[in-house]
Amino acid sequence: MTDFLTQAKELFPYTQSLRRDFHRHPELGFREIRTGGIVARELELLGIEVTKGVGKTGVVGLLEGGKPGPTLLLRFDMDALPIMEETGAEYASQNNGVMHACGHDGHTAIGLTVAKILHAHRDQLAGTIKFCFQPSEEGNNGEDVGGAEMMMRDGVLDGPKVDMSISLHLWNEKPLGWLGVKNGPIMAGAEIFTVRILGKGGHGAIPDVAVDPIVAAANIVNALQTIVARNVSPLDTAVVSVTNIHGGTAFNVIPQEVRLEGTIRTFDNVVRQRVVERFEQIVRGIGEGMGCQVVVNIERITPALVNNESITSQVQETARRVLSESNLDSSYQTMTAEDMAFIQEKVPGCYFFVGSNDKARHLDYGHHHPKFDFNEEALLRGSALMAAAAVDLLNEK
Ligand SMILES: [Zn+2]
Ligand SMILES: [Zn+2]
Repeated sequence: MTDFLTQAKELFPYTQSLRRDFHRHPELGFREIRTGGIVARELELLGIEVTKGVGKTGVVGLLEGGKPGPTLLLRFDMDALPIMEETGAEYASQNNGVMHACGHDGHTAIGLTVAKILHAHRDQLAGTIKFCFQPSEEGNNGEDVGGAEMMMRDGVLDGPKVDMSISLHLWNEKPLGWLGVKNGPIMAGAEIFTVRILGKGGHGAIPDVAVDPIVAAANIVNALQTIVARNVSPLDTAVVSVTNIHGGTAFNVIPQEVRLEGTIRTFDNVVRQRVVERFEQIVRGIGEGMGCQVVVNIERITPALVNNESITSQVQETARRVLSESNLDSSYQTMTAEDMAFIQEKVPGCYFFVGSNDKARHLDYGHHHPKFDFNEEALLRGSALMAAAAVDLLNEK
């Protein structure tokens, strides 16, 4: 049987140099021109059929196996964040104010490494691998949708039709050696809300003739805390966070308006509907009760990311074999969001986490921190598991 870990180790200098190159030259969502160019070049060098411009800067590679079978999509996100890097690493960003602070440089390098491994074993593949290098996972960056949806619009799930998917995230919340592979919901559905509370401005010393939106806002923020505490079952999970409040200009002026913004996170659609319904009732009820007009806008960012049972159990089995030394966690889930959820709404899949922090070397800052960096050994673990799981999935279906 093929030893995927040994192969990933042999390819590690390649993986590491790609990762560091991407890290030096980060690009924001839908601007991954250089990154996508390198991806296309590396895939073409292997003789893999490449399509560029799928979802603006996305790149798709198609590798047909030696035997017929289903099509498996492997997805890797490529975008960086608008953060000024403070790692002091020798491979630090040379693009001022832009940084790979989420590990997508590593994901792209893993994707190209997996392509090399799977290309070498294409005769063993009973089916087709579709490599999906996705732009703009971190947000829409000025477009009407993010990278996953943009690629879906351009038909990434068709021609050939995708039957299943695997994807991963390097995970600095957990140490190197840890793997998170869980069935069912693993990342939350996310909404962004904005609330405008419109009162009647006036003199701070004559509140009785004004309608004060600040007092209404204060009561609303407090009452919103009762949704999770009183309306969601203690056995379910939800988050309601008000993350910014804007109102007022001077110490003696009652403002006309206060704006609130924040996010709602849930794993389950029934819970989500209940939270959204209570949110609107509370905001309107309190705001209007205090004499204000209220304008509520709740917009869905992503659905929950839900893993398929049979694909996930195959990935777990592969992980036990290929990375037998790992601490395999089959219950980990997080309230963060991920646009792979749009793809997994259409195609059954497994999204897994590869622990990457290293406290001893101070490589344990969280994702999106200006000092974020990880132990690069996680790259070879991710590559080995993804390549092996791809072969296993195509050969058992
Ligand atoms: Zn991120
Ligand atoms: Zn990320």
